[in-house]
Amino acid sequence: MPAPQPPILTFEEARRTVEDHAAHSTPGAEETVPLLQAAGRVLAEPIAADRDIPPFPRSTRDGYAVSAADLATLPTKLKVIGEIKAGPAQLPPALNRGQAFSIMTGAPLPQGADAVVMVEYTSQQDDSVEIKKAITPGENIVAQAAEAKRGTLLLDRGTRLNEADIALAASVGKAKLQVFVRPRVAVLTTGDEIVEVQAEPGPTQIRNSNLYSLAVQILQGGGEPVLLPIAPDEPRRLRQLIEEGLQSDLLLMTGGVSMGRYDLVEQVLADLQAEFFFTGAKIQPGKPIVFGRVNSWRSGRLVRSGPTAPDSPQDQHKYFFGLPGNPVSTMVTFELFARPMLEALAGMSPHPLVFLHARLKSEIRTKPGLTRFLPATLSGKYEDSQVELVPWQGSGDIAARSRSNCYIVIPPDRDHIPAGEWIPTMLR
Ligand code: AMP
Ligand code: MG
Repeated sequence: MPAPQPPILTFEEARRTVEDHAAHSTPGAEETVPLLQAAGRVLAEPIAADRDIPPFPRSTRDGYAVSAADLATLPTKLKVIGEIKAGPAQLPPALNRGQAFSIMTGAPLPQGADAVVMVEYTSQQDDSVEIKKAITPGENIVAQAAEAKRGTLLLDRGTRLNEADIALAASVGKAKLQVFVRPRVAVLTTGDEIVEVQAEPGPTQIRNSNLYSLAVQILQGGGEPVLLPIAPDEPRRLRQLIEEGLQSDLLLMTGGVSMGRYDLVEQVLADLQAEFFFTGAKIQPGKPIVFGRVNSWRSGRLVRSGPTAPDSPQDQHKYFFGLPGNPVSTMVTFELFARPMLEALAGMSPHPLVFLHARLKSEIRTKPGLTRFLPATLSGKYEDSQVELVPWQGSGDIAARSRSNCYIVIPPDRDHIPAGEWIPTMLR
């Protein structure tokens, strides 16, 4: 009996399908790297505060450390009993009523002081300072442990480390970090017309640009691209290369997934006993997008990769995406569907796809039925930013995508969006 046809899903259904599978995917091995090399990597260990942050009540201004109660009547004069710089050899002595310390930004507050008066509201003569402005306790100081108590979790496993995270790790003394090994993502481009970038193309040949856009997107997504040779539209060689690609943690293929007579990718995958979760999504560009997995126990061969631990459940199956060959479709479908799976295999905690809203510059008319992701430019300045479509010749138009800096997202129920409406956009 023939297997039921895998479905063509709405954008949301297709995205949810990938997210569900991603949620059950586990990352591979871990490694320890020097702090700076951990930037952009995914943290594999929890990082806690090794002491209170700040470790002492910290002045946030240059001025005078005082007891707010001393400033009940104004102006008032206090006796300056010393100066506290940031990083004194010892903690400063306590302050008594009627006294003040001259204090610098970042310096520890003395005991008995509960606020810092900014230098602008004072005038000092000899060892006496006159204060002209009232203050409430806590002003211009950060209390000890206000940012984090010793032992508080600061960064969890699964965090993709940005500059603030690296700084935070540095602030708690982590010179090295445990991170996940990057998943290996095989890229298999297909098509008899496709030639290497270095080759002189014949009159009807097309250079292999998808290999490069995907490699960049994989790197940006936290993976390590594994570039396979171009597969011809011929089942034997295609199958060989797909099997090679299944040695990686994830396999991305482009081209050969439309309904063309030579679109063989699905056929070869079916021969490998692949499970298909969807074979299309109601989107533009990128309608012929395929998501599935090959179970190694079903296809009867060992599918194993570097970072994945030998006994992990992932060892029993490998996910793949058949992305459409049209270059802009390839880029869009990677962002929408391949990225969440890649991020899960990279150890990243899941996060929802968010669209930012911008004001539409010129009206859009389109046919309803598909969720569209159309190359667009976000321009303007400050709160006046506006978005508009980039003129394009369809999903083969790499130059139009290159001129764009975002996508306008059009829901499937809209056929007209007037200028001035706030509409969803997807950056990248
Ligand atoms: P396909 O999905 O194989 O029918 O291909 C759709 C369109 O994308 C065709 O015009 C192909 O020439 C083009 N295409 C397919 N693969 C690539 C590639 N690797 N680089 C650039 N263009 C491609
Ligand atoms: Mg093709």
